[in-house]
Amino acid sequence: MVVEIVLLSIVSVRSLNFTEHISGDCLDDNNNKNNNNSTTDILLQRQKRQTQRSSKCASTGMNWNKYQSAKTINNYIQCLSSKYRGKATLINIGRSTQGQQLKIVHVRSGTGSKRAIFIDGGIHAREWISPAAVTYILRELVENSNSYKSLLSKFDFFILPLMNPDGYEFSRSKNNRLWRKNRSINSQGGCKGVDLNRNFSYKWGGKGSSNNKCQEHYRGPRAFSEPESRAVRDFIMSRRKQIKMYLTFHSWGQMILYPWGYDRRVIAKDKRDLDRVGKVGARAMGRRYQVGPAATVNYEAAGASDDWAKGAAGIKYSYTVELPDTGKYKFTLPSSRIARTGLEATRAVTAMANELAKTDV
Ligand SMILES: [Zn+2]
Repeated sequence: MVVEIVLLSIVSVRSLNFTEHISGDCLDDNNNKNNNNSTTDILLQRQKRQTQRSSKCASTGMNWNKYQSAKTINNYIQCLSSKYRGKATLINIGRSTQGQQLKIVHVRSGTGSKRAIFIDGGIHAREWISPAAVTYILRELVENSNSYKSLLSKFDFFILPLMNPDGYEFSRSKNNRLWRKNRSINSQGGCKGVDLNRNFSYKWGGKGSSNNKCQEHYRGPRAFSEPESRAVRDFIMSRRKQIKMYLTFHSWGQMILYPWGYDRRVIAKDKRDLDRVGKVGARAMGRRYQVGPAATVNYEAAGASDDWAKGAAGIKYSYTVELPDTGKYKFTLPSSRIARTGLEATRAVTAMANELAKTDV
């Protein structure tokens, strides 16, 4: 009981800028970790109550208790843009293979152009926790923007919750839960789908990608053969000077990865900077995350979006975040884990952005 009272008083002190405060906690220490988890529980409960009470977009059916359809996600972001004018603006960047609109939310406070952070989710269809966590980040930045005043005074955000809506919806249909690619028609009657995260042009066609249409890592007939990857390319290139960090959310593995992914023998010249900001993100998550070059910590994979963002678009800080877990549930993380994972991801983004703000990128 005494412990609870102490924790509650900590929470009340932190009630506004909790993310920015908590992100600095030392989480390697077990006691701190336990405290942090208890604090997280309280915060999650409180946030849930607040959101249910105050969300102007509750009527869309959006919540973080279950995995949502592409339609609900789209309705939610549409609603944000109409209820929070000036804070959330929709940008249509193109259509998917099957004609679904790809929508970025531009999140900002005030007017004028600031440095920006680009976040995407759902490149891989079966990684449902990715769009769930990215929409959670979006919810925090827009619907709880008072808690992120300092962050939003420094950065704009461009958030694409669902890069591969066709694949995502297909993975929600019966017996297709582990579908990974988009739904491109490669040949009449043949295998469908291209791995969008092997379809970007930087070192396209190299290791860890396949030229076999039936393989999960099929890279497509040429770089940017797919409308989804082209839409992201065109948007980022049009804002490449403004965007200072690229963050793409995947699962699973609990890793924060940075370039290069295409070849483990090639080390980024600014590895120390990438590592420093990556570790700040990992610490803020409050659970063990590995940090390092994608090709060494994970595996070699050419044509991925993070290598392209750095190598072709020139965005120095480029990361792939592999969300939980570490292998028990893999791609089928229970929906009871969504809110916590979303909160952790929000903390990581906040901490990494604040670290970035210290440098003159
Ligand atoms: Zn993935």
